[in-house]
Amino acid sequence: MRIKSNDCHAKWCLIKEIANNAYFYHIQAHGITVVKPTDEVVLNAVDLTLESAVLKGDKELKPIEIRLCSEEETATFKFPSAIDPGVYSLDIAFTGEINDKMKGLYRSKYINEKGEEVYAAVTQFESTDARRCFPCWDEPALKATFNISLTVPQNLVALSNMPVKASKPAGDLIRYDFEKTPIMSTYLVATVIGEYDYVEDKSTDGVLVRVYTPKGKKDQGLFALEVATKVLPYYKEYFDIAYPLPKIDLIAIANFSAGAMENWGLVTYRETCLLVDPQNTSAASKQWIALVVGHELAHQWFGNLVTMEWWTHLWLNEGYASFVEFSASTTSSPSTISGHNSSTTPLELDSLKNSHPIEVPVGNPSEIDEIFDDISYSKGASVIRMLHHYIGDEDFRKGMHLYLTRHQYKNTFTEDLWAALEEASKKPVGDVMSSWTKQMGFPVVKVTSKPSGDGNSVGLTLSQSKFTADGSKPSENYLWMIPISIATSKNPKKGSGQYCIKNKLLHITVPDVEPSGWIKINPGTIGFYRTQYPPDMLEKFIPAIQNQTLPPLDRLGLVDDLFAMVKAGHTSTVEVLKVLKAFEDENRLQCVVVYRKHLRKVRTTVGSHRLRERYQKQLLRKVYRRLGWNQNEGETHLDTLLRGLVLGRMAWLDDEDTIKEAKQRFTAHLKGDQILPADLRSACYKTILRAGGKEEYDTLLQLYRSTDLREEKDRISRSLGAARDPELLKKVLDFAMSEEVRSQDTVFVIISVALTPVGRGLAWQFLKDDWSIIVDRFSGYLLTRLVKYLTENFASEKMFTEVDTFFREHKSPGTERTVQQAVETIQLNTQWLNRDTPAVTEYLKSN
Ligand SMILES: [Zn+2]
Repeated sequence: MRIKSNDCHAKWCLIKEIANNAYFYHIQAHGITVVKPTDEVVLNAVDLTLESAVLKGDKELKPIEIRLCSEEETATFKFPSAIDPGVYSLDIAFTGEINDKMKGLYRSKYINEKGEEVYAAVTQFESTDARRCFPCWDEPALKATFNISLTVPQNLVALSNMPVKASKPAGDLIRYDFEKTPIMSTYLVATVIGEYDYVEDKSTDGVLVRVYTPKGKKDQGLFALEVATKVLPYYKEYFDIAYPLPKIDLIAIANFSAGAMENWGLVTYRETCLLVDPQNTSAASKQWIALVVGHELAHQWFGNLVTMEWWTHLWLNEGYASFVEFSASTTSSPSTISGHNSSTTPLELDSLKNSHPIEVPVGNPSEIDEIFDDISYSKGASVIRMLHHYIGDEDFRKGMHLYLTRHQYKNTFTEDLWAALEEASKKPVGDVMSSWTKQMGFPVVKVTSKPSGDGNSVGLTLSQSKFTADGSKPSENYLWMIPISIATSKNPKKGSGQYCIKNKLLHITVPDVEPSGWIKINPGTIGFYRTQYPPDMLEKFIPAIQNQTLPPLDRLGLVDDLFAMVKAGHTSTVEVLKVLKAFEDENRLQCVVVYRKHLRKVRTTVGSHRLRERYQKQLLRKVYRRLGWNQNEGETHLDTLLRGLVLGRMAWLDDEDTIKEAKQRFTAHLKGDQILPADLRSACYKTILRAGGKEEYDTLLQLYRSTDLREEKDRISRSLGAARDPELLKKVLDFAMSEEVRSQDTVFVIISVALTPVGRGLAWQFLKDDWSIIVDRFSGYLLTRLVKYLTENFASEKMFTEVDTFFREHKSPGTERTVQQAVETIQLNTQWLNRDTPAVTEYLKSN
């Protein structure tokens, strides 16, 4: 039996007000084709009460039974006799609840202009929660058109994917009928009902763009409006396909679990991912907002117009949107984007035994939820970036156009994208790419060199094997097709050649090499692999790092690879600390971010704290002096971002000058004498709290309560974990769980506590004590983040056993893989600590 509807009429009516959270609802699914006789119709439904149903064909049939199965999330309509093949429509009347779970149709609480607590009703259906709002065939490949009607209180704005076609009074209420949508997946259907203001503009290609904000804050929508009106024509030109709908709304939602959701024509955002207050929004937040807007708008084509067949191919959506968000946003707002997008982030996760392939079989909803992770997003983006580089932008665009036009309004498998790109580029895209998407992990390319006879060129042997985080011997079964580029000190940017490693080994000759010059594999860190150099080749990079003739993304990639070798036990931490000394003049944000991240890890696991701090301060001293506290006229966006990072770090290292200055500036800020620039606030808040105590904690809480800007609330609440006093940290944990913190933000406040050695133990104890409350309140991405950050920095056998045992006894669906990854990481940390601590301590003492 195969049943599929192709047109749905959905009406829902909010009774009086959203606070009274029942709604009733009616759906008619038309064009249902019964292919083979059957006496049962099965749909998805969960947490709904189905009142009645009737199947209409030549005659009307009523089911003798409607059976709900909460485990399978289905409703089965049993008919008295077999239904003949033919075309039918199914009418269902039912009731549901506007829940508080941030999925399905839910309530979003906010304070209105009069200071009253009120609610909006909002939908969030991805991945499998349309079925919580209405019975439907809730799978991405079962596309239908939707005719949506909403009957709502007259003072509220009602929005859906399409514009309003007609409205008319319905008693005290008002009924809106929306235009019919194009054929689309259920997970992209959306409605929002509440009090909102908006700003609007038209993109140069004529699409009506509105940004909806809380009442009285419409100016905060202007930045996103500007980005969106520029990004839409960018994609139109890039894909050579016009935006398919007549309008697009971007709306800020008070209670929102993820960052944003790409519902077709009605994109929903967390307030902090959309709203910009020029006085109080930091450069980092603006950059983030531009990227999120760019990401969600890319989905309007890639995901919404062409949709994955099943969640196994989720990475197509997320990997591609994460890849393209940078170029789209850089084009639309060049002054707000750092233009940095490298492949290093997901490598660490993907080297674990408990990683997973990009294309991963998934079945039930909790399995689907768990793959919204760094592999789908970041590794997905990285392999697409590698492919883009391999076939070149022109062919890539051509292939994208072909793919999107060929499959528009339909669904695809990963192979469909490869076929289009292969057609456009005439390169073996499918063969190359399937080795990256079907296998988990990635290779390490080991290099050996031999000068050739002419003294001018160098012979290289490149060999590949799977990179393992613990340094264990990899299985022989893994083989990748690796597009390889090579750059040299004579040709640092352009690269001197393109190769492809297809088997275990590749011999090449690199021409025109200076005798003392460096040879870099993977220039720009575009390829998704690690490189291991012999000591003589590595040494040649040192002067080029010092004088920064080695390009920034190469400096970054080199350090990142080196630390991976250290953690896997292929080389000693001391060797990398020696190389890092060459970074004393480093002033590029990307590089500082990466080495800082690793040094933090060194601190967590290896070496004495005091000694390590002295080493880090020395490393940051020069960039600290160059940037100072005040913004320099005409400075780059990157320097602005870097200043906040460096000051925060120096304070964390208990640098007395930094603490003194932070205190003075904070006092002036409180008095209103001199408002702290938003970029420096996070560093300042953490500094004064770390150096202070209860008084500073109370002051920050007052600041938290006095602002209504979510970004500022986030900044303050996520700084609270910097307190040193365990009693204060316990208060932070209680505060995180209180009514004062929105439930989507709670997790991040708890994580802030777990970032210091003192807080780590407390946060873990808290997780164990309150586990039942936590799993009741959080699910999906929020829960997996919490589990990850509260556990993965431990570094002892004892904690390995404790964490492992706890989660064996307290299983929660959708966190299984995250727990396995965390436990594996604790084991790696422990091995690293045991292996390298004596040598690191010795080295730091003597330097
Ligand atoms: Zn996305």
